[in-house]
Amino acid sequence: MYDIIIVGAGPAGLTAALYAGRANKKILVLEAKAYGGQIVSAHEVSNYPGIQSISGIDYATNLYNQVIDLGVEVKFETVLSITDDREVTTNKEKYQAKAIILATGAENRKLRIENEEELVGKGVSYCATCDGNFYKGKDVAVVGGGNSALEDALYLSDIVSKVYLIHRRDEFRGEAKLISDIKKKENIELILNSNVTKINGTDKVESITVNNEKEIKVDGLFIAVGQEPKNIIFKDVIDVDDKGYIIATDEVHTNKKGIYVAGDAREKLLRQLTTAVSDGSIAATVAIKEMEN
Ligand code: NAP
Repeated sequence: MYDIIIVGAGPAGLTAALYAGRANKKILVLEAKAYGGQIVSAHEVSNYPGIQSISGIDYATNLYNQVIDLGVEVKFETVLSITDDREVTTNKEKYQAKAIILATGAENRKLRIENEEELVGKGVSYCATCDGNFYKGKDVAVVGGGNSALEDALYLSDIVSKVYLIHRRDEFRGEAKLISDIKKKENIELILNSNVTKINGTDKVESITVNNEKEIKVDGLFIAVGQEPKNIIFKDVIDVDDKGYIIATDEVHTNKKGIYVAGDAREKLLRQLTTAVSDGSIAATVAIKEMEN
């Protein structure tokens, strides 16, 4: 029997593990893929208080090592289900805990257009910092109007020949500073009030169609249109909102006793590193306090 099982080894889950580990609790962190979550794709993190600048992967690795140094057990297994009485079933085993912290985060939203799925890794990418180097000297497009799309466009503009930044409205959602940096870049062309409606190519991306009429030749399409929660497996046990985010109190309780939620997986105003680690620390502290009472 574990004291706490934490599902997800992103910043929220690892911070919960850090706090619970320092309280000498018996913890298991379960992660389906690799540690770090979405932050590992961030080229540079420069809005985390107290750290002027760090790459996403370095940040995640530091946090992971901090947790491992405490002796916390981490297993790379996929959680298939949880129950009200806190039994967790993975693709390999069943585990029981006094408390569960769900920190499954979110994943990249898809455009759901023709050829998107077929051409992933063949010109379609959801991670500019991972794949940008493959497009040195080439033309690419970025879709989206949030911070991710703006940062991706800026990052790519230093590598590729030209970036088309395509956004469905005429106003960006992202920060003013990023927008002004974008406007200074001569090799970024804004295509506003526009949607990518088709990706063309058989073995690799050759061009994209915009608004069902205009074809633009590009070698790569970087899609940065936000995230969707990864809570589908919990939705029969845990209450979620209409977008699939777990409904939580300020003290990160879900609707089930002994099951808490931290990070991007829950409904919240702001999904950032700062709020993810805040949730993780609260989840561990509240779980321990309630377990001991
Ligand atoms: P986001 O802020 O949700 O922006 C998503 C963008 O994609 C929006 O501009 C949206 O358009 C557009 N979009 C959504 N669905 C679309 C569709 N089907 N077709 C075309 N466009 C679509 O997502 P994000 O940029 O990934 O950022 C997520 C969170 O992380 C935000 O809170 C953001 O501030 C934060 N973040 C912070 C940093 C940083 O601080 N350095 C970096 C990256 C991300 P509309 O605007 O028209 O809705």
